[in-house]
Amino acid sequence: MADVSSLAASDRQTRQRTWVLDFLKQHPHFWTAQQIHEQLRLEGHTISLPTVYRSLARLVSTQAVDQRVLAGQASYRRCSTKHHHHLVCRQCGATIELSDAPLEQWVQATAQAHGFADVSHLTEIVGTCPDCQIGRPALQATANQPGREREER
Ligand SMILES: [Zn+2]
Ligand SMILES: [Zn+2]
Ligand SMILES: [Zn+2]
Repeated sequence: MADVSSLAASDRQTRQRTWVLDFLKQHPHFWTAQQIHEQLRLEGHTISLPTVYRSLARLVSTQAVDQRVLAGQASYRRCSTKHHHHLVCRQCGATIELSDAPLEQWVQATAQAHGFADVSHLTEIVGTCPDCQIGRPALQATANQPGREREER
């Protein structure tokens, strides 16, 4: 006994989650849910902000995307799955993944020296990227999409 309507609903959720994930794959910055919502609408997708939030929560829970919270504001990025840190532009969210063996060793050695077990750590470098320093935020890069047949004024 197939419940057609709930099947259709879960199909739609899966499709909308794919839009969010595809967007993050194509634009490897940290984005807020509002920014992702805005950009998806610009690309012509019909999706609500709550759906974007729901999709992101699901993608975070399956570790498909990384979440960071700065000053109460969450942002999201499709990252590699290996352990890494972020060098993030505080203006446009441009991000470079960092891995640093000496840092990892220092963390372990410091924890051990103090007798700590089950250690985890958060390390992030935040600054202003080269583009933002010259007033060319990368967010504009997504404004010139190929399919720009905008009818509405
Ligand atoms: Zn990451
Ligand atoms: Zn920037
Ligand atoms: Zn680390």
